[in-house]
This record gives sequence, structure tokens and C-alpha cells, in this order.
Amino acid sequence: MKKQNTEAAALIGRLKETALKTGFSEAGVIDTAGLRFYPEIRAICEKNTCRSYNTCWACPPATGTLEECRQRCEQYDFMLLLNCRYDMKNSFDIQTMLESMTRFKKLMEQFDQNIREFLDSYQILSNEGCGRCKSCTWPDAPCRFPDRLYHSIEGYGFQISKLAKAAGIRYHNSQNTITYFGALLFCAP
Ligand code: SF4
Repeated sequence: MKKQNTEAAALIGRLKETALKTGFSEAGVIDTAGLRFYPEIRAICEKNTCRSYNTCWACPPATGTLEECRQRCEQYDFMLLLNCRYDMKNSFDIQTMLESMTRFKKLMEQFDQNIREFLDSYQILSNEGCGRCKSCTWPDAPCRFPDRLYHSIEGYGFQISKLAKAAGIRYHNSQNTITYFGALLFCAP
């Protein structure tokens, strides 16, 4: 792993501890040199089954091409992959799925606030679209909250199951649960 010196290991430890204290279920680190960006995942975005494509600054095409996403990620040494498991009444519990999606976004925002005091330069990726404003300014005007704009992790073309495996954290949890993912991109000290 890149630049895993003592200082980097200490920072990774602090970030993992902060993540768990914030409320995430698990956190694991991946070297950004090993990240892969899958055009077939971006193609799923373009089919717009999630209805977020081309609707906000957090999703493609606003986030740029896969090559631009790759270049952005490679400005950093590491990705801290984060997940949180939510319990559902059953596998058709759409209401809990939607509420959990919003709860996860708030968790990412809380994590952002918690790391600001000791981390200077980083980027956060969160789950799916944005949804912060009733109506997004995309594409007519800049984002209203650029310091809290978290690009969609799915929109970067990642296969989340492969990221989870590389980070050593769970992709699936038990039946009647849903697990959302986000990430922190950061540099070694
Ligand atoms: S914060 Fe508001 S303006 Fe910015 S991407 Fe989200 S919904 Fe759009």
C-alpha cells in the first residue's frame, strides 16, 4: 500500500475511529492506485433507473467523464470506504430504504464535520444523488452548497462490491437489511 508510513497509519487509524464514532458500521482503506472505473456501471447511470442522472451536481454528467473521475481520485493516496447497515421490516420495505438513504447522507455530512478539524484536503463521495435542495440549480447555476456537495460514489463507475472486498468490509449484510456506502479520498501525511 502507498506511503503506509507510521504517520499515514496513525491518520488511517484516527479516520477509522472517527468513522465508527460517527455511526458508520464499518470502514476500510484502499490504495487509490488500485481503483477501477467501470464504463458498464456508468452506463447504468445513463439508463437513469435511479432518476438522478442529469438532475444534480452530484451525479453524471455533472461529475464529468470516468477519466475525469479517475484523475480526481488519483489526486489522493487513499480511499476510506464507509458503510452503514439499516434494518428493514422486510425486503419490500421501500419507505425504510428511502429514509435510510437520507440518513446515510446525513451521516456523511456529520463525518465531514468531524474530520474537518484534523484533515485539510480531501473529497467525500456519498450514496446516489444529492437531494439537499427542493430544486437543484443544475445545469443553469452553480451548486448552492459547494462545500457540502458530495459526488455520487456509484456515478464514479465503481463496482461497490469490489470496493468492499478490497477494503475488507461487508457488501451485503443479513436478510431484511440494506447497506449504503460512501467514501473519503485523502492524502497520506
Ligand atoms: S446542494 Fe442543492 S444545488 Fe447543490 S447539487 Fe445538491 S440539490 Fe443541487
